[in-house]
Amino acid sequence: MKVSFSTLGCRVNQYETEAMAEKFIIEGYEIVNFNEFADVYVINTCTVTNMGDKKSRQMIGRARRQNENAIIAVVGCYSQISPEKVAKIPGVDIVLGNRNKGEIVYWVNRAKEEKKQIIQVKDLIKYKKFENLNIEEYVDKTRAFLKIQDGCNRFCSYCLIPFARGAVCSKNPEVVLKEVTQLSQHGFKEIILSGIHIASYGSDLGEDWNLVRILEEIDKIPGIERVRIGSIDPQFFTEGVVEKISNLKKLCPHFHLSLQSGCDKTLNRMNRRYTTLEYKNIVEDLRKNIKDVSITTDVIVGFPGETEEEFEETYNFLKDIKLSKMHIFKYSPRKGTKAANMKNQVNGNVKEERSKKLIELDIKLEKCFMSKFIGREMPVLYEQEYSKIKGNYEGYTPNYIKVVSPYLKDISGNIMNTKLSEIKEEIIFGNIE
Ligand code: SF4
Repeated sequence: MKVSFSTLGCRVNQYETEAMAEKFIIEGYEIVNFNEFADVYVINTCTVTNMGDKKSRQMIGRARRQNENAIIAVVGCYSQISPEKVAKIPGVDIVLGNRNKGEIVYWVNRAKEEKKQIIQVKDLIKYKKFENLNIEEYVDKTRAFLKIQDGCNRFCSYCLIPFARGAVCSKNPEVVLKEVTQLSQHGFKEIILSGIHIASYGSDLGEDWNLVRILEEIDKIPGIERVRIGSIDPQFFTEGVVEKISNLKKLCPHFHLSLQSGCDKTLNRMNRRYTTLEYKNIVEDLRKNIKDVSITTDVIVGFPGETEEEFEETYNFLKDIKLSKMHIFKYSPRKGTKAANMKNQVNGNVKEERSKKLIELDIKLEKCFMSKFIGREMPVLYEQEYSKIKGNYEGYTPNYIKVVSPYLKDISGNIMNTKLSEIKEEIIFGNIE
């Protein structure tokens, strides 16, 4: 039997796809590419933007065209938010919510036997338990993602995630530490801790657990050399936290702090719970205490009511604060959120223009950040051969600069001291010392 996966959206979804794939492998399935014939197709959907819904529907259609007799299972955020809508898409056999992914093989077998559509979506308002979806065997042996948290209680006015992922819930700390130990025994050098709102890790455990404590415990595990955290709420970095994490030996100096807007009035409408001044102070504190720190961010342009002056404020704030990389998103209304019903929705052409302006600024700032490291020697964890130049290998510095260097043999999975020599198209080329 063959199974194929299509994953849309974030890293958490990618992690969960790998965990589901492992369950199929245990049952004797072979994993094949999505454009190949398979007996089961699993589409792990995203609903953060309208585009996510559209792509999910396209992938369902594509799967059905590959094999008209296949079992098609649609799982993830789109299924969680709109199960009836998903069930009506022609060809869908199974609809599973976000905390039903661990039961996927069971439901596929049931669908085969019963030959009728199955819909299993837990009510995440009532069901608050972390679903333990573990990965034992990783394909990529360099860096391992580890999902330690799910859900979000913040309710930013534009975001559907709290509805799709439910309330905050955390993986048991003992399980996290056991998994990190296993990963180190398997030879992994880097672990990327991920979650939907990872700053909330532990808040539901009712004990003295939080993200800092789990990071401190992971820091003691031998073998793992680097620990990264995915996107994190800026408010996590209080003064005490910055001081504590600056003592961790393995935590990579790269933090993705979603800003979303550099204008306080817009931030307020977004229901973000910090001001631009607070954000700036956090960035300064991190820069002061953590050597070579790289701070990246997300920004939404064209949020409802964003005037020309408000956008200018955002532009000037970003120009001033000089982050190392910005991901720019044009606001897209999501039905069911407060922002979708706000007055003064911004015209598409205006969003496009604002997005272009920030992308241009980002290119300049990114180059400026990278150029500070030219001539420096840095440890690079090489991951694979660089597809564009044979005999060259690509990897990342601790502060997440992509480096490509020539070498005589395959160095994937090794950390090597590398002299960074020149920038070409968002990559630094280096030489291994
Ligand atoms: S913090 Fe805001 S943007 Fe992030 S997942 Fe929660 S509600 Fe969505």
